[in-house]
Amino acid sequence: MLEIRPACENCNKKLPPDSAEARICSYECTFCAECVETVLDNVCPNCGGGFTSRPIRPANNWKGDNFLGTNPASTTIKHRPVDRAEHGRFAAKVKRIPPHER
Ligand SMILES: [Zn+2]
Ligand SMILES: [Zn+2]
Repeated sequence: MLEIRPACENCNKKLPPDSAEARICSYECTFCAECVETVLDNVCPNCGGGFTSRPIRPANNWKGDNFLGTNPASTTIKHRPVDRAEHGRFAAKVKRIPPHER
């Protein structure tokens, strides 16, 4: 199950569970859309994978208690700002490869 982390790991912008700006990699490293585009070049600084939109967990109990009320979003902030120079060197080679071929 996704943790649904509460903020962008780079800029610490709040990313509530209903945010349309949240992006995650396959390990659920979590960033805002702006950081993914302007800082990360769609390269996760931790694993090198690409990002996708984070799904929104329903706030309402539509079926079987599978909703935020039963499985709330994480409140543990992971703020570890990216070193832009270091990431630039790392992403330079990786960003040219489409995520599905990395
Ligand atoms: Zn951000
Ligand atoms: Zn990652």
